[in-house]
Amino acid sequence: MNPTTESLGRIDAWLDRLAGETDQARHSAEFTAYLVAMSRFWRYSQANTALIWLQRPTATMVNSKKRWAGLGYTLKAGEWKNSIHILCPHFTKTKDEQTGEERETLAYFVTGYIYALEQVEPGPDAQSLTLRWQTMGDHHGALYRLLERACARLHVRVELSLDLPRGLEGTSDGRSVITLNGHASIGDRAQTLVHELAHEVLHPTALRPQFTKREVECQAEAVSYCVLTALGVEVPNAPQYLALYGVSRDDLKRNAQAIHMGVKRILEAVEAVSQAASAGVAPGGSDAEDGRAA
Ligand SMILES: [Zn+2]
Repeated sequence: MNPTTESLGRIDAWLDRLAGETDQARHSAEFTAYLVAMSRFWRYSQANTALIWLQRPTATMVNSKKRWAGLGYTLKAGEWKNSIHILCPHFTKTKDEQTGEERETLAYFVTGYIYALEQVEPGPDAQSLTLRWQTMGDHHGALYRLLERACARLHVRVELSLDLPRGLEGTSDGRSVITLNGHASIGDRAQTLVHELAHEVLHPTALRPQFTKREVECQAEAVSYCVLTALGVEVPNAPQYLALYGVSRDDLKRNAQAIHMGVKRILEAVEAVSQAASAGVAPGGSDAEDGRAA
């Protein structure tokens, strides 16, 4: 079978399987495992994240052969035949006959070939593959300040309040203001901030009615889980994604796409403010082939 057709079929089969999973705990565990993959491969499209995970569930980092070479790594002998297949979209420019406007439309996919960290070996000039922002687990103060700067980059204001109703850790109004409980520890505030920022990024007032209340909370929890995991923060209890249990494959896909968009927007902002603070190289696919959303 043509590898591109095979990749598209793989994603469909996975969505069908997940939508058809009748055991609630297994469904949640599988979705959580997929979110861990998203916390690693968020630079790729949502479809490619799924493809990487489905083909190599243990992968922690992937790159094209060219990108690995740029980082000082070479492919181990024989590994060229164990490549991970991803989809690389190709766009064509079309002109709208009525408005004369030029726009890009997806024409077709070709297959891109990437390799996981365990398939390569470091050369003498291999670069470090861990970025400082990915190791924030034990540095709550620094984590909070980094997230605050990421919020500013996303034009979201963060305020502290000492009189939020009891039990409420934070709120977001969908109009770019987040209020956090000023009595909470800085570590707890950081975690709440990610959840509320997910709402701000994904659910501005105009868009909130498109999702059910359960979906909105599920997306914010999932984004928060991915973002914190990517930052190196251990999240003790993976939330149960019950809102996605027993829904159709189209609903699953819609929610997975929204979660991916939230993770990507927040982590792009985190990386940008972190790089502005200390110029560094970003490992992880930013080759042409991971391209735009597949
Ligand atoms: Zn919420």
